Amino acid sequence: MKVICLSSGHKVELGDAYDSYAGQVKCVTCGAILEIRTETGDLRSVALAPAVARVAPTAAPDATR
Ligand SMILES: [Zn+2]
Repeated sequence: MKVICLSSGHKVELGDAYDSYAGQVKCVTCGAILEIRTETGDLRSVALAPAVARVAPTAAPDATR
């Protein structure tokens, strides 16, 4: 099981245990957290999970709506 890191573009190698998995994995290259979902070896979705330390409270344009 491999996913492409949305942040660095590097391949993230995952073991067979991730063939059916939903949750977060960490890119060892850049440290980004990826939210992935896999089913029987197929990648169903991958998204970049915002790292808690990187979230700036003021940088939330949707909050004004
Ligand atoms: Zn990365």
